Amino acid sequence: RAITRELGRIKEKREQDLPIISGEIPPQETDPADFKRRFLKKIRKLGEGNFGTVELCQYDPNGDQTGEMVAVKSLKTENESSNLRKEINTIRNLYHENIVKYKGICNEEGGTSIMLIMEYMPAGSLKEYLPNNKSNVTQKKLLLYALQICQGMEYLGSQNYIHRDLAARNILVENDSLVKIGDFGLTKSIKDDKDYYKVTEEQDSPVYWYAPECLISRKFYKASDVWSFGVTLYEMMTYCDRDNSPPKVFQQMIGPTKGQMTMVRLVEALEKGWRMPCPDSCPDMVYTQMRRCWSRAPEDRADFESLIKEFAFLLS
Ligand code: ADP
Ligand code: MG
Repeated sequence: RAITRELGRIKEKREQDLPIISGEIPPQETDPADFKRRFLKKIRKLGEGNFGTVELCQYDPNGDQTGEMVAVKSLKTENESSNLRKEINTIRNLYHENIVKYKGICNEEGGTSIMLIMEYMPAGSLKEYLPNNKSNVTQKKLLLYALQICQGMEYLGSQNYIHRDLAARNILVENDSLVKIGDFGLTKSIKDDKDYYKVTEEQDSPVYWYAPECLISRKFYKASDVWSFGVTLYEMMTYCDRDNSPPKVFQQMIGPTKGQMTMVRLVEALEKGWRMPCPDSCPDMVYTQMRRCWSRAPEDRADFESLIKEFAFLLS
């Protein structure tokens, strides 16, 4: 009788285990993309832009300091949190080696503000990394970064997104041979029936990175991102030198202006054909690529696919 009882127990156990044996996934208690605020320990501030603040945090549910390091973005002002929600909706759908990885959100305690949890990029943005590591970063490395940015942008375009804020401050550095595109705060998805996005809301725009059509008619094409990439390439070739930043270079050329006048002068200069000069020690072959990004008409500019070919060739 003991044996019968034992067999019964085994049968019962087997039936319990059955869903697992048959390959079914047991229901998860927690969504891994849902981070609990009480386990997020702030380590330090990583950076801040026009809209958000990004902090390094350790996510430590065990409370023994073994948790992973993550970057947490929140917005400076509460009423902008709808923008962060849009940014989260964009970034969570993007999967590419050269795009910063989405990890999850933290949205608790009254639900006043939402936070974006992403992978931590230890070397910060190119704007901090390049000036501090000038001696280790060869021109060849700069071209590798350029190639990687173009690969990420080509993917973004294939998903019908326009980034609208491509700049060295928004390129994040994993290590000396891997960079990723970050900051999807201004990214827009273009509708199937259009090939541009029209800005309706008034906001600070990174004017010195913008193509003429963005400044004049507020229209953003994939080719407008190419223009901004050209400006980003310019920044990289100067190792993000502050004295040669795009705003400094434009202002030196147009002279002192204020407010709306700056944009008027900028448009005038660009319409007359003025472009940023070749940075010191930047090879002609690379400056040629910048100029291909800065054709007046969007349809005359290089696209990311052809830029990928050029940088791959320059690196070979
Ligand atoms: P904003 O929308 O306000 O411009 P960003 O997303 O560009 O915010 O982040 C601001 C700064 O924070 C970046 O320029 C960079 O220095 C830093 N940063 C952002 N994301 C990360 C990350 N995942 N890892 C490390 N640093 C980051
Ligand atoms: Mg930014």
